[in-house]
Amino acid sequence: MQKDIQPEYKEVTVTCACGNTFKTGSVKEDLKVEICSACHPFFTGKQKTAEHGGRIEKFNKKYRQK
Ligand SMILES: [Zn+2]
Repeated sequence: MQKDIQPEYKEVTVTCACGNTFKTGSVKEDLKVEICSACHPFFTGKQKTAEHGGRIEKFNKKYRQK
């Protein structure tokens, strides 16, 4: 009886730029993100490594030269 007040909130597959996919709830059909919990420095702790070595810095420089 109360089906009509439900929003169109469904499970969608989110695709990240790193290739990782995961499911989440959204009102959109599909989602694409540039960063996710699998590759975000905050979650991986890679940010600390980047502070020490210039390898990632170099990579970022190259990657942004588009
Ligand atoms: Zn990712």
